[in-house]
Amino acid sequence: MNYFYTISRGDQASNDIAKQIQLKLELNNYVLDKDLATNIFVVGGDGTFLDAIHTFVSKLNEVKFIGIHTGTLGFIADCEKDEFDIMLDEFLQNKQRIFNYPLIEAVYEDKTVYAFNEIRIENNVRTLLVDVAINDTYFETFRGSGLCLSTQIGSTAYNRSIGGAVVEHGLNVLQLSEIAGIHHKAYQSLQSSIILKETSVVTFDLNYYEGAILCYDHKHIKLGKVDKLICKNSDKIVKIARFNHYNYLKRLKNLF
Ligand code: NAD
Repeated sequence: MNYFYTISRGDQASNDIAKQIQLKLELNNYVLDKDLATNIFVVGGDGTFLDAIHTFVSKLNEVKFIGIHTGTLGFIADCEKDEFDIMLDEFLQNKQRIFNYPLIEAVYEDKTVYAFNEIRIENNVRTLLVDVAINDTYFETFRGSGLCLSTQIGSTAYNRSIGGAVVEHGLNVLQLSEIAGIHHKAYQSLQSSIILKETSVVTFDLNYYEGAILCYDHKHIKLGKVDKLICKNSDKIVKIARFNHYNYLKRLKNLF
């Protein structure tokens, strides 16, 4: 038996498409079941996709995601709303290609959070003071509003807005970028983004200042007295099914 689940942004257009997907799949002997689903159809925008990934973060080995984009702009899902019927036929004929995206993990105290786009340490109230080590070697002391550690797919999201480079699909590198760094005679950090090997481990040693938060995609927690974060590519891989026409550079050109 094949099991699937649909996640919709919740607007009428997305709900309608999710319903049509459900009807067509059920006609083809697929069963709607959230717990047993191995195919997750995500109908909405990038935010809906991020939410779906975080909903299934403990079951990523078992599921793959299929995205249908219904908003004005969407980067993660490549299938537009008027193409979903063709995409469903291709899905049923098993004409999909699976693309793998490792999540970043951030470990602090006894907790771990995961991010598809990026991990950000931010403080918009007080200057953040962070010692950064890469693979156990001290790299720099950063002062400013924050640091962003981005995945390849996240390179077009927050990372790009703060001047980071866009990274082509297939390079599972990590990218560390500054958010409003302070630089003058007394304080210096790298200023530019640095692109790191996919096996890199980045450690952030934090000084406590009220207001510091850890953002992971659309989620965040207060850092409070957390004084160390260890970040790297995780073993958790997000699998996204893509169809015939998918071409990363064409999509990039069309969106920006
Ligand atoms: P959201 O879901 O409203 O997304 C904010 C914007 O980021 C949207 O335009 C969305 O389409 C775009 N986006 C998300 N992931 C993307 C990707 N991989 N490539 C290109 N564009 C992408 O916002 P939210 O719920 O606050 O946060 C979700 C994500 O949005 C975060 O992971 C962050 O990367 C991004 N974001 C970007 C900025 C910025 O660029 N200044 C600010 C906040 C959040």
